[in-house]
Amino acid sequence: MSTPLHQQQNLRTMIQCPTCQQPTLWQDNPHRPFCSDRCRLLDLGCWADEEYRVPAEDGGITPESLENFE
Ligand SMILES: [Zn+2]
Repeated sequence: MSTPLHQQQNLRTMIQCPTCQQPTLWQDNPHRPFCSDRCRLLDLGCWADEEYRVPAEDGGITPESLENFE
C-alpha cells in the first residue's frame, strides 16, 4: 500500500489585488481576489460610481426612445 503524499496545499499562492496591486495571499483570504474587504468595495464602488455612468441626461435616451428605435 502506497499513499503518495502531495503536500501541495502547503504551498502558498500569491496573487495581486486588482484594486491596490499589492501581493496578496490566496489562501486564508476571504476577500480574494482582493486583499481586503475595503479593496473589494472600492472596486465595486468604482464600477457603480464612475465607470458605469450612463449619459442619459443630455442625450435624451430613455427606455421609451429605445423601444421606438426598432
Ligand atoms: Zn488591495
